[in-house]
Amino acid sequence: MSRLLTTTAMLWALPVLAAPEVGSWSGQRTEYVMGTMLSIELQAPDSALGNLAIDSAFSTVHRLDRLLSNYLPESDISQIALQAPAAVPVTSETFEFLEGTLSWAERSKGALNPAIGPLVDCWGFHTEAPSLPDSAVIAAALRRCDYRSIRLDSRRRSVRVAAGMSIDPGATGKGYALAKIDSVLTRLGMASFRADFGGQLHCRGRDSLLVPVRHPRSDTRALAWLLLAQGSVATSGDYERHFEQDGIRYAHILDPRTGFPVQGRAAVTVFAPDPFAADALSTALFVSGPLNALPLLRQAGAGALFAEWDGDSLEVIILGEWPEAP
Ligand code: AMP
Ligand code: MG
Repeated sequence: MSRLLTTTAMLWALPVLAAPEVGSWSGQRTEYVMGTMLSIELQAPDSALGNLAIDSAFSTVHRLDRLLSNYLPESDISQIALQAPAAVPVTSETFEFLEGTLSWAERSKGALNPAIGPLVDCWGFHTEAPSLPDSAVIAAALRRCDYRSIRLDSRRRSVRVAAGMSIDPGATGKGYALAKIDSVLTRLGMASFRADFGGQLHCRGRDSLLVPVRHPRSDTRALAWLLLAQGSVATSGDYERHFEQDGIRYAHILDPRTGFPVQGRAAVTVFAPDPFAADALSTALFVSGPLNALPLLRQAGAGALFAEWDGDSLEVIILGEWPEAP
């Protein structure tokens, strides 16, 4: 019994171990949300419960998109920038999202930087035509990217940034949404489900999956495999939004120390029980690399696969709790 599950980051994932039945009804739905495709598949005791669970999961993610989007001017995240330096009251989810993201920013010593909005804007990575900015423009943008000046007031549940700053939710938004999907489905009694959010996978339940790690330069070859029973797998890669100039590839993940796209690394795939942690860590470790990654991975019970450029060839380094394929 093999099933194909095609995504941008995963080539296919095969169920390998069958456990006891958890429901006789199974359903699947795919929708476009947060700028990408979200697919949810689950088993339920009957169709009424199953459809209710799928409806609840999708309406949760659509609501999160309206709160966390940096494209919609009315979202909490956009309003924080538009009303800066005023304190902006936000919903409990936005507050929780920012608290969690800032905690990974601290732990990664700023490799993950949610205040990177002005820098991403100056490279044009949210547009159709990103390009190499002038070094003075990069330096000016970097001065507006200090995540330590994002002020969270838990008593008033408000957020404040300095004028000219903005928050980029791109590195952790999907992971946070997957954690919320997990809570909604678990609360509704769903014990076996799988969600694929633009290539980040999160699953619980009946089957273990043999999950391929996408080769950064091939759509048909896997770089490695992992055996996923429970938890999440997220990848950050230089094959997503990027452009080339004078033979150099400039990709969308920026090093907040230099203001330039990270060089020398093709992809980082992270396995973690918690999808929010997996998403935060894949971006943070794409910036900071394998050296000293273990303490960070241990905090999340996580493992990481680094695809590093060694000249023209790729070197694979695996660290931490990596669920090896048999
Ligand atoms: P991901 O694919 O999860 O690694 O997220 C990458 C996205 O996060 C980029 O497209 C940017 O919008 C944003 N980003 C780029 N560099 C950083 C960084 N150092 N810290 C946080 N977010 C970043
Ligand atoms: Mg990420």
